[in-house]
Amino acid sequence: MLEPHRGLGAVAVLPPRPAGTEEGFLDLRRQFLSPLAGGFAHFLRPPGPVLEYPASMVVNIAIIGSGPAGYTAALYASRAGLEPLLFEGLQPGGQLTITTEVENYPGFPDGVQGPELMDLFKKQCARFGTRFVEFQPIAKVDTSSRPFTLTTTSGDEHKAHSVILAMGARAKLLGLEKETELMGYGVSACATCDGALFKDREVVVVGGGDTAMEEATFLTRFCPKVTIVHRRDYFRASPIMLERARANAAIEWKEFRSVVDIQHDDKKQVTGVVLEDPRDGSKEDYSCQGMFVAIGHQPNTEFLGEEFDRDEVGYLKIEGGTRTSVEGVFAAGDVHDPAYRQAVTAAGYGCAAALEAQRWLEAEDLA
Ligand code: NDP
Repeated sequence: MLEPHRGLGAVAVLPPRPAGTEEGFLDLRRQFLSPLAGGFAHFLRPPGPVLEYPASMVVNIAIIGSGPAGYTAALYASRAGLEPLLFEGLQPGGQLTITTEVENYPGFPDGVQGPELMDLFKKQCARFGTRFVEFQPIAKVDTSSRPFTLTTTSGDEHKAHSVILAMGARAKLLGLEKETELMGYGVSACATCDGALFKDREVVVVGGGDTAMEEATFLTRFCPKVTIVHRRDYFRASPIMLERARANAAIEWKEFRSVVDIQHDDKKQVTGVVLEDPRDGSKEDYSCQGMFVAIGHQPNTEFLGEEFDRDEVGYLKIEGGTRTSVEGVFAAGDVHDPAYRQAVTAAGYGCAAALEAQRWLEAEDLA
């Protein structure tokens, strides 16, 4: 039988258990949780109150991250009656909330918008009792003693018997001095977010992977000319995305070129980029009014301590499925996966992490 309060006792924000059937109690919980599942608008809400419950309470599973991996882990853990606490971070829904059409998530033959997909994920785990902590990123995970202590950026502490790390990854930048200075003045790392601001402008997109192809194709909705700048002539992009971009008459190509500088006017508006041919070092000025950086991602693992084994980029190393180097802490999705990085693989890892955490909690007699 489901025990909704196992591990956390009486959570202050939840209604008291009424007399009557288990189903009646679950109905009440669903009504209570329904505002959390109230549509896309919740992603736009200002910071809300943090869940309140006695500091001595220990949750069974704390999940850090709210992309496909985090929400799927929460779905499995909550359906197992483990009442997970999910820290959504500053970008609830993760990377998919800044993408448009997702055509490769199974079950959506006509495609689905990224934000809508994540809203459905969230509704599904809310239905089974997942609790969410919004806009309170975790700054530290103390694994020196059990239960683990998670500290938010505002200093609140939460105790958990086990942790699932599902923080995902973020867009990488080229590292040019002017890149961050001109961010918002014509430099962007997200065409979906900023593309409409570049209506009728000519822009460059840097990169040769699927992100670059997708962003360039998307930008042709607004821009008469989009130039893909790539440092070699081999593209990591999948053939279908590359072909789609190749077939788009508004896209031009600059292969064997790197952006080494960004030009701007006295109002800091981008006016062009300096391209260098890595084969001979020759340079050329290239006129454009915007630059989109689409060169991959960096896993969000910097706040973790040295006890977590990572590769040279920062991806968590895992063994036997989703186990990290710290017993009782599991990883799911883009935090450990530089190879696939897909919503569906992240969701699969989220499922695996929840099952492994559940088995571990049972073996340790903690839940
Ligand atoms: P990738 O790692 O696949 O590609 C990064 C690209 O950026 C490469 O062409 C790389 O060049 C280039 N690059 C990296 N660093 C630099 C640099 N410093 N200067 C210039 N160029 C650089 O990342 P993506 O974000 O494109 O894709 C990641 C994953 O997400 C992939 O698995 C992809 O399939 C998936 N994805 C799927 C989408 C979809 O299905 N709708 C959309 C977007 C992504 P080089 O090859 O020379 O190293």
